[in-house]
Amino acid sequence: MQTLALLGSTGSIGQTALKVAKRFNIQIELLVAGKNIKLLNTQIQEFSPSYVVIADKKDLAEVQGRGAKIFYGNEGILEALSLCSSSLVLNALVGFIGLEPTIHSIALGKQVALANKESLVTAGWLIDTQRIIPVDSEHFSLWHLLQGSKNFSSLFITASGGAFRDTPLESIPTQTPSNALKHPNWSMGAKITIDSASMVNKLFEVLEAFWLFGSKSVDALIERNSLIHALVEFEDGSMSAHLAKPDMALAISYALNPSLAQKTSFLPKISIQELANLSLSPIECKRYPLWELKDALLNTPQLGVVLNACNEVAVQRFLEGEFLFGKISEIVLESMAHFSSLPTLSSIEQIKELDMEARRFAQTL
Ligand code: NDP
Repeated sequence: MQTLALLGSTGSIGQTALKVAKRFNIQIELLVAGKNIKLLNTQIQEFSPSYVVIADKKDLAEVQGRGAKIFYGNEGILEALSLCSSSLVLNALVGFIGLEPTIHSIALGKQVALANKESLVTAGWLIDTQRIIPVDSEHFSLWHLLQGSKNFSSLFITASGGAFRDTPLESIPTQTPSNALKHPNWSMGAKITIDSASMVNKLFEVLEAFWLFGSKSVDALIERNSLIHALVEFEDGSMSAHLAKPDMALAISYALNPSLAQKTSFLPKISIQELANLSLSPIECKRYPLWELKDALLNTPQLGVVLNACNEVAVQRFLEGEFLFGKISEIVLESMAHFSSLPTLSSIEQIKELDMEARRFAQTL
């Protein structure tokens, strides 16, 4: 029977992954969660994992393990992964904490179904992408489109435009967390929803595409319905687009079991009428000031370490109510300018050092 190690089981991707795993009869060997112990306990009851990891030692007493070996903290995730016999890990942790589990899983010879885009954003050059199965919908779509021919000239991914795509420009900087969390098309975790509103999510995805498909000819366009997820322009001048309803179950199904995924009929279908409303438009820097960083990131992809660190700090401070939406862009732009000349980043330790330094800087702004 196929088994799976699932990191981030209580999150948006993690919960969808469990629904797919159940449908595909995949046994769950490892569940990793953060602080939502109540939901984790119901997952343990339903899936009977051999190993469980939570974020904090102080919550251990609350975990109803039902015979599972229980670990805690970032080290606990690595330890549990070492014990797992599953050849497939789905990494749906959010943020920089997802990086080490990705690297460790690959070192253990496992395949990583990667939702945690921060792994590639902060250390793409240290990751063997042959071992990565893309879960992010745009990269899943690119992968799908490139099955027939790999002779492409340009890659395009799409963006919905996020919560403030129709907000008058002058009032975007003063928006609150509750407004920024209202995504027009997708239901996702808080961090990625804010990153969609600021367009940082698309900067991450451009870098992800660069590492996965080895090309700097990557751009993004706004498609308001989130039906077209990616387009590929081939060397022969033709272009293909991949369309699907905005539902992460599709990419997750393919990541978990491609042969079963091809035969599934539980996923929602697009009606032909919906195609009449499709259009693509450029991402404008006057609405999304951080989009101006795209070329610098593609020219120096290691800047992804700084982008991720200062953005994680800024988004957390914004969600805690310390300031309004416009400050996120200010913090990110100032941090990126401050760290424009990078030290050598040839090991994970050096990346962690720069990550800490960038976080400290962003905290002072
Ligand atoms: P969520 O915030 O919904 O879930 C994050 C998961 O990580 C939760 O299970 C959370 O646990 C867990 N977690 C957080 N911190 C820790 C920690 N210190 N130790 C252990 N577990 C921890 O995020 P999403 O599911 O939305 O996103 C996950 C990843 O997938 C992100 O990188 C995101 O960018 C990417 N992604 C998401 C998409 C989506 O549709 N949601 C689409 C494409 C990519 P708990 O809740 O228990 O604290």
